[in-house]
Amino acid sequence: MANQDFLNEINKRRTFAIISHPDAGKTTITEKVLLFGKALQRAGTVKGRGSNQHAKSDWMEMEKERGISVTTSVMQFPYNDALVNLLDTPGHEDFSEDTYRTLTAVDSCLMVIDAAKGVEDRTRKLMEVTRLRDTPIVTFMNKLDRDIRDPMEVLDEVETELKIMCAPVSWPIGCGKEFKGVYHIHRDETILYQSGQGHTIQEVRIVKGLDNPELDKAVGEDLAQQLRDELELVLGASHEFDLELFLQGKLTPVFFGTALGNFGVDHMLDGLTEWAPAPQPRQTETRAVEASEEKFSGFVFKIQANMDPKHRDRVAFLRIVSGKYTQGMKMNHVRIGKTVSISDAVTFMAGDRERAEEAFAGDIIGLHNHGTIQIGDTFTQGDALKFTGIPNFAPELFRRIRLRDPLKQKQLLKGLVQLSEEGAVQVFRPLINNDLIVGAVGVLQFDVVVSRLKSEYNVDALYEPVTVQTARWVSCKDTKKYEEFKRKCEVNLALDGGDNLTYIAPSRVNLNLTMERYPEVSFHQTREH
Ligand code: GDP
Repeated sequence: MANQDFLNEINKRRTFAIISHPDAGKTTITEKVLLFGKALQRAGTVKGRGSNQHAKSDWMEMEKERGISVTTSVMQFPYNDALVNLLDTPGHEDFSEDTYRTLTAVDSCLMVIDAAKGVEDRTRKLMEVTRLRDTPIVTFMNKLDRDIRDPMEVLDEVETELKIMCAPVSWPIGCGKEFKGVYHIHRDETILYQSGQGHTIQEVRIVKGLDNPELDKAVGEDLAQQLRDELELVLGASHEFDLELFLQGKLTPVFFGTALGNFGVDHMLDGLTEWAPAPQPRQTETRAVEASEEKFSGFVFKIQANMDPKHRDRVAFLRIVSGKYTQGMKMNHVRIGKTVSISDAVTFMAGDRERAEEAFAGDIIGLHNHGTIQIGDTFTQGDALKFTGIPNFAPELFRRIRLRDPLKQKQLLKGLVQLSEEGAVQVFRPLINNDLIVGAVGVLQFDVVVSRLKSEYNVDALYEPVTVQTARWVSCKDTKKYEEFKRKCEVNLALDGGDNLTYIAPSRVNLNLTMERYPEVSFHQTREH
């Protein structure tokens, strides 16, 4: 492949994920995006993702049909001149470290906001995570077919609460039953909305220009005048789109529409594919790796149980950082220092899993993992690099796990360590007793662990409450002080699945006091894989 073709392949890739609060419309917008990507014939058919189902049953359903949760994790489709990779973050009510780590594998994010509700909790949290890498954010204000809040006010809320400048690209005309469409500020045209067309790609009616009398006819004089007045205000008070600021994660282009009505999603996709960055460099311990480097490199950000539980096969999701994957190529699995030949990686074109013959920087490939691959692992062609920045987060919820059949202790430990390598949960073994404490970022993960222990390791386990409220990984440069700390705090120390020393605090007050008492010791909220 000529060098220019190689670069073109990379430059047309757009790898992004959706961040939102539950019920804001992530699933619905994913369907519409796939509809535009020709990956779905009709919206409403993303499998196993019924939106009104209880979160837990949703997950169980998906796990029963394991293939599905894998296939919907990454979706690749062409749109305009771009090749889009949409990475799903777990869809259930709960959220896990997977969500966070998925955000390390993308180059931009789409933030979906329920315009009736404004900025919600989960979005706030996820935005904090995108900040770690200054990921560019595109915003979609959803549910305009409902009575929403004053759009100016919602933009204001985004700016002040999420600390990002808003640059409206479209502006809504009415809302709820009166929703007439949007005026596209950059194109100087009004795109009219027709309700009841959500399952298809709509034939649109467009009115050019803001002073066009056709506009008054189409939306009514009152709404047309209101639009003109609002725009004058908005354009004066808000920010203009600025590509540089967007790429720095400081400004977000904002689109209005309704995912359910499939209106405005295409405007958003046009903006995203035009402005969002091509595959970005990633940092290793020694240097940054550019996407355009010829030699293949990538890191594993997620491991997921595969279709066939009998084989205990798992798929490791690898984000290609540089170069190109070709079927059968040899690569260096850096952590274990082995050269492996990969002949059966999967790609995720148009929602179907296919065997990859080629994949480029920016793409995700799935590697079959028989237990040797861990989250955070680097694969390279050539130099033994190690990518950084794929974190473990200190869990916020803890339970003691106990066996119904005490003879299976070894199996239990093995299962827990493997599940923690996958990043599903974290396991802590206190120094002073034989307890096993499971820590999670979200409560649903506890159920997942028990059900997987049963099905994959044939271990019957149950939980008991434990007085641990928070955990921190500890380190200290001063050996003497560290020894003293370890001696005095032994009752609160534990080893995690990777044998790293952790302080497990019965309360936040206890943690704060301990941190004050031992200023030489560092308490880390995240741990790098
Ligand atoms: P998720 O939890 O973020 O994936 O949200 P869903 O896509 O499952 O949507 C949550 C609920 O909001 C569902 O009942 C959707 O039908 C509904 N919904 C999504 N988008 C819209 C919209 O644009 N308008 C209206 N009225 N409802 C919507």
